[in-house]
Amino acid sequence: MLLPFDYVRAQSKEDAVSFAIEAGPNGRFLAGGTDLFVRMYDRQQRPKTLIDVKEIEGIEGVECRNGQGLSIGAASPLNMLVGNTTIRSEYGLLAQAAHSVGSLQVRNRASIGGNICNASPAADTAPALLVYEAEIETWGPRKPRLIPISEFFTGPGSTILEHGEFVYKIRIPQPDTKSYGVYLKLGRTNSVDLSIVSVACLALAGGEVRIALGAVAPTPIRVREAESILLSRKDEEAIALAAAAAKETAVPISDVRASDRYRLDMVEVLTKNAIEQALAGLAATGEV
Ligand SMILES: Cc1cc2nc3c(=O)[nH]c(=O)nc-3n(C[C@H](O)[C@H](O)[C@H](O)COP(=O)(O)OP(=O)(O)OC[C@H]3O[C@@H](n4cnc5c(N)ncnc54)[C@H](O)[C@@H]3O)c2cc1C
Repeated sequence: MLLPFDYVRAQSKEDAVSFAIEAGPNGRFLAGGTDLFVRMYDRQQRPKTLIDVKEIEGIEGVECRNGQGLSIGAASPLNMLVGNTTIRSEYGLLAQAAHSVGSLQVRNRASIGGNICNASPAADTAPALLVYEAEIETWGPRKPRLIPISEFFTGPGSTILEHGEFVYKIRIPQPDTKSYGVYLKLGRTNSVDLSIVSVACLALAGGEVRIALGAVAPTPIRVREAESILLSRKDEEAIALAAAAAKETAVPISDVRASDRYRLDMVEVLTKNAIEQALAGLAATGEV
């Protein structure tokens, strides 16, 4: 059973900030509620006030800004991203990652903002946003901030957000070149489970290959060491070295889903597969 709580619906960005400040440390922003209500039900969190952000103008929806990339409202449900034709064709890795979350029903409620603000090391959209080098547009007592996603996560369940600050939009820059991305997720089952290991790999025409890992460190991480190996060569040996470098960078824990040793081995396997698939996908577009 849920403990009683107050519910307020913010109609504007200013409303949301002042409600949050008024509520103090016992206030929580609410989007789809698929994380928050589970935690409240389990008594892991006991907020006194929920501040619903979904009616703030502009917080839901996907905007493709001509030549300037993508702007995604934080409260956009993941199924909105999965079904968006621009995201599917130009930012396919994000569509794959969003599609890998939970079930169809969960994705109808679960928002991209909630996915990153929950700050689970296994959050599926996080590795995709890392390789697309997304920026997080927030609104708070200090007015708007644009935070690189690489600085957003500070530990398991924690972010750089200050008290009263919420995520308004997620901005993804337009890649300079053609790209092809792959998201590989290993769970205990093939459906509705958090990742044991996840890998996002984005191959860009021009030679850059970006790689990020989920569920194998206190936060989702970029693996620059692996990326630099692939800058000059992309042969079998270089791919194996990059996968080994990803394994070297990971610092997983053992938990109910998997042991740390299994995770480490799977980081290497999935990274190798993701690189091969991303490079093959890019080659098939005719732009290398
Ligand atoms: C059955 C089930 C399966 C799931 N499977 C997966 C999975 O495979 N992969 C995965 O990554 N997740 C999974 N989840 C977790 C969850 O669905 C996602 O993390 C989801 O994206 C959270 O979004 P939400 O809108 O529901 O967030 P909420 O529950 O509303 O909020 C989550 C947290 O973020 C904060 N928050 C929300 N929006 C904002 C904002 N705009 N600004 C600041 N703070 C905000 C809230 O205060 C809260 O602390 C699963 C959950 C369930 C119940």
